[in-house]
Amino acid sequence: MSKPVIATTSLAGCFGCHMSLLDIDERILELIELVEFNKSPINDIKKLTKPIDIGIIEGGCCNSENVEVLRYFRENCKTLISFGECAIMGGLPALRNGIPVEECIKEAYLDGPTVQLNKDKVLPNDPELPIILDRVYPCHEVVKIDYYLPGCAPRADFIWEAVVALVTNNEMAVPYEVFKFD
Ligand code: SF4
Repeated sequence: MSKPVIATTSLAGCFGCHMSLLDIDERILELIELVEFNKSPINDIKKLTKPIDIGIIEGGCCNSENVEVLRYFRENCKTLISFGECAIMGGLPALRNGIPVEECIKEAYLDGPTVQLNKDKVLPNDPELPIILDRVYPCHEVVKIDYYLPGCAPRADFIWEAVVALVTNNEMAVPYEVFKFD
C-alpha cells in the first residue's frame, strides 16, 4: 500500500519549527515508515514531484514569493497545516505590521545603526527579488488552512502526535500544556 506523501516548506519563519520536527529524534525512522517525504528543507527536494497528502507550512507571508509558494502548496496538497505561530498569526516577522513598509526599508538599508557599508544609499532593486508586502499575513488570510499546530515552536511530541493522528485517521487532543511559546 502506498504511504501518505508529506511536503513541508518555510515561508517567513526562522526554521525553528522544522528544527522542532527534527526533535522527534529516533522517531524520524518510524515516521519514514509511515509516510513518504516529498519537497522539504529536511531532504532538500526543491519541487513537488507528485500530488501531496499533507502540506506543512512554517512561517507567514511577508513577500510575493511566500504567497506564490503558499498557493502552490494549497493547489497541490489535500490537507494543509499551518505549523507554528508565524504561520498561524504572523509571529515575530509581524512585529513590523504597525510600521509602514517604506519606513522598515529605510531603517534596514539607509538609516539603521548597523548600516555601515551602503555609502551610495542603494536600495535592493534587482527585478528577481520578491516584492515585500505591506504587512505580514498569516497563512489562513491567503489560502484555506485545514489544521493549525500552535507553538513557537510546536513541541516535538505534539508534532509527532499530530502527524500520526492525521496519517492514521485518528482524532487527537490538544491540551493546554502542549502550547509552548518560550
Ligand atoms: Fe521560528 Fe517560532 Fe516562527 Fe516557528 S513559530 S518559525 S520557531 S519564530
